[in-house]
Amino acid sequence: MFTFRSALRMAEIVIEPVPLPALHASHAGTWVRDANGSTRESSKGEAIMAAADTPVLLLNAPLVATRLGYPDLSGLDLLELYAFVHPARFCVPTPKGLADALSLEQPTSDDAVPLLLQKAAGALLQTCEKQDWAERDGAWSTLQSLVRLRWPWAQVLAPHIARPEQAEKWLFSKLPEWEETPERPQPASVVLSESEVEGQLEYLTGAGAERREGQRSYAKAASKVFAPRRERGQPHVLLAQAGTGIGKTLGYLAPASLWASASQGTVWVSTFTKNLQRQLRGEARRAWPERRADGTRPVVVRKGRENYLCLLNLEDALQGGFGGRPAIMAQLVARWAAYSQDGDMVGGDLPGWLGTLFRKRAIASLTDQRGECVYAGCPHYRKCFIERAARASAQADLVIANHALVMVNAARGRDHAQRPTRIVFDEGHHVHQAADSTFAAALTGAEAIELRRWILGPERKSKGRRRGLAARLADVASYDEAGGAAVEAAVAAAQALVSDGWLQRLHDNEPYGPIENLLAAVRALTYARDESANGLSGQEAGYGIETEVADLPGKLIQLAQEAMGALTEIRAPLVKLGVRLEAIVEDAPDWLDAQGRARIEGARNSLAWRIDLLAAWESMLNRLGGPADPEFVDWFAVDRSDAREFDVGIHRRWLDPMKPFARIVLEPSHGVMLTSATLTDRSPDGADWDSAVQASGAPHIEVQPQLSAANSPFDYANRAEVLIVTDIKRGDLPALAGAYARLIEAAGGGVLGLFTAIRRLRIVHGRIADRLARAGLPLFAQHVDPIDTGTLVDIFRDDPKASLLGTDALRDGVDVAGDSLRCVVMEAVPWPKPSILHRARRAANGGSSYDDRMIRARLAQAFGRLIRSKDDAGHFVVLSSAFPSRLLSAFPDGTPVIRLPLEEALQRVASGVSGLDQPLPAKDNLQS
Ligand code: SF4
Repeated sequence: MFTFRSALRMAEIVIEPVPLPALHASHAGTWVRDANGSTRESSKGEAIMAAADTPVLLLNAPLVATRLGYPDLSGLDLLELYAFVHPARFCVPTPKGLADALSLEQPTSDDAVPLLLQKAAGALLQTCEKQDWAERDGAWSTLQSLVRLRWPWAQVLAPHIARPEQAEKWLFSKLPEWEETPERPQPASVVLSESEVEGQLEYLTGAGAERREGQRSYAKAASKVFAPRRERGQPHVLLAQAGTGIGKTLGYLAPASLWASASQGTVWVSTFTKNLQRQLRGEARRAWPERRADGTRPVVVRKGRENYLCLLNLEDALQGGFGGRPAIMAQLVARWAAYSQDGDMVGGDLPGWLGTLFRKRAIASLTDQRGECVYAGCPHYRKCFIERAARASAQADLVIANHALVMVNAARGRDHAQRPTRIVFDEGHHVHQAADSTFAAALTGAEAIELRRWILGPERKSKGRRRGLAARLADVASYDEAGGAAVEAAVAAAQALVSDGWLQRLHDNEPYGPIENLLAAVRALTYARDESANGLSGQEAGYGIETEVADLPGKLIQLAQEAMGALTEIRAPLVKLGVRLEAIVEDAPDWLDAQGRARIEGARNSLAWRIDLLAAWESMLNRLGGPADPEFVDWFAVDRSDAREFDVGIHRRWLDPMKPFARIVLEPSHGVMLTSATLTDRSPDGADWDSAVQASGAPHIEVQPQLSAANSPFDYANRAEVLIVTDIKRGDLPALAGAYARLIEAAGGGVLGLFTAIRRLRIVHGRIADRLARAGLPLFAQHVDPIDTGTLVDIFRDDPKASLLGTDALRDGVDVAGDSLRCVVMEAVPWPKPSILHRARRAANGGSSYDDRMIRARLAQAFGRLIRSKDDAGHFVVLSSAFPSRLLSAFPDGTPVIRLPLEEALQRVASGVSGLDQPLPAKDNLQS
């Protein structure tokens, strides 16, 4: 049959491979192809020599360098060329992914990859010559800069990109400006009837869609949170347990879209993972058009400002702020910015792999990480992606955000009118975790130096625009004497904060200044009291160590008092400055136009944030040596990775972070829904609603949440099996690695391997990756491959033969329906990490039953990766000889659970059939 795809394949026939040598390295071996010759398998040494002699084509240079064990490898990376030719277009960074993105024939074996690289280069260069190249605009100008920067591709590309007849517009004049919009009135009070909600659900699911009772009752329950509030501080709260596959997204979008349309208000849906954000964006199209008649967007995705490109930082990087490779990256980012939908650099349309090709930190430094934005004082203010997103969300019917942003906005949002009042927390089981980090406080070296830089700006001869407080508020200082004096006092006091080289000074026991003195004492005490050297983690293993804040030496308490005094000296002038700024806004001088006012408002906001931070630090220090506050857990920590220290400090967490969540997020809201497939614990006695209610925070504001539950429609009994492998001894790493390899072979790939320790993950990967690659089963791993997690999941999803190993982030961040995920293998029961914080919470929440709840939740989340649609089937394997029966209720009702030796498990996995289609083993081994 003649299809569009086959037409493209025919088009491929005329693509000339580029006559440049090409190199491909996988765990199975290394292949080199001469410029015009044949492909041969080579040794790693030979490949490195070939790459050193002449520029070679390769795909994902950092990954190839890791495979060859030669970090300095460089060449003509196809991914860089792709980012130049097709900025803001998706591409899975593998040979297969590149072939698909360019409509080329997929390579069927490793030795076919070098030729593919030559063809891919040819296809991309040909694109540059085509009249209809969609991303031509700006390419010639950028290329001229890249020639000057000696980008390896520049000379290759130059003959293929014609000079435009008219001068190309500079990025910063090309981007559209956002427009001021009037404030929305407050939402009208609306009561949704059940029949309206049902009708809307039917409309969204489409005519002829199967009628799902679970989804209907879920949608009706969800509509209750949109009812008018009866009492101030008493929002409607709904806890909705929604089994996988009930269609919960459309279930809550049905009442949400009705309410938004009738009330002219905004609903916020908050997620924990980017995956769900992406999915929501798609589902929301059923309820809202892409744009309204006036051109505005009814649905917007909103993220924290640190996710977006800051145009001022980019301009600075393009004009000499960056040198070497980061300067090349800045040019590629500028290409992307011209085509990006929303300027989101983290999880948006900037390829996740671009950062790892260059330096992750270079990407981060193009965002507004430290809140140095000068708002209306910025020449790009009217084109700023962050400002555009903020304005769009104020006008939207639906804002898709994440838990952290919703909480940060509620805690220290700039604009009260924009605070969300109707919120759906999807992936609601993560709200606790997000609240825990949002409301935490930490006085560490890294945090303190951030504050110093925010106040003082760059202190060495550094290029760039980064400026301190004095420079940012120079006009205020010249106009207002008291404000100017406050800035000067803050700058002088900030000298007490830690400065560059502090880690080394702490290591050498030569701290400088009151904060470093305190951190040196904290570090010394943490090492003195650490007892983990003989255990599984701690000093010996090179990971972080910690100690409780108890029975502190007098000297340390004295140092804490001195540090507290120093912090107060910084905070006092900042408070004064805040008062002066407020006075200037209220009694505005002639020169203060709307933009100036916006800038001062912005400065007040970031000032308030720093004042709160300093106050939290002071309160933490004040407590040292005094009686412990039962609301909080405090500890000292030295953070390390691979035995290298990277931070030292004092930490404070709420014992129950849902307490501040209730006050800051729930109380001011009108309606809040928490929903998830794992909201309640599935204890052996059934769903445990009491813990779910307690964990929601609602009791802290004396609200009784409404409860709803809808079971998954999936046929777990016939589509899934839990296999508990009983003959792999704990701690036997060769056996563990062997079991992983054999399970992956038996499944033919498509395995997601979950680990609780990075060290074991690396050992297992190191032992089995080569063997699997030789069998045509590629294995990727977090913490091993130089690829970001989102891209690793894209690679895994794209190749049904690939397997992926990872830790926590993969346990519930992976949504891979279909054939690519056929088996989940957990290395062990996911016991909680025995930290000081965990011990305190365990003691406060019922001891071992708290641990059990936590483990069951983790198991349920991990199991949830396996069956994403009604057609999915697969095995969930736990390599644990001692899996407690009380944890088995974590799995959905009816799922067969079998304890068996590895050999039998392999047979069941290899047969590729799950559930009751296979004869079940003897009854003794079956668990219910
Ligand atoms: S307004 Fe702020 S965040 Fe936006 S481009 Fe300017 S400095 Fe960057």
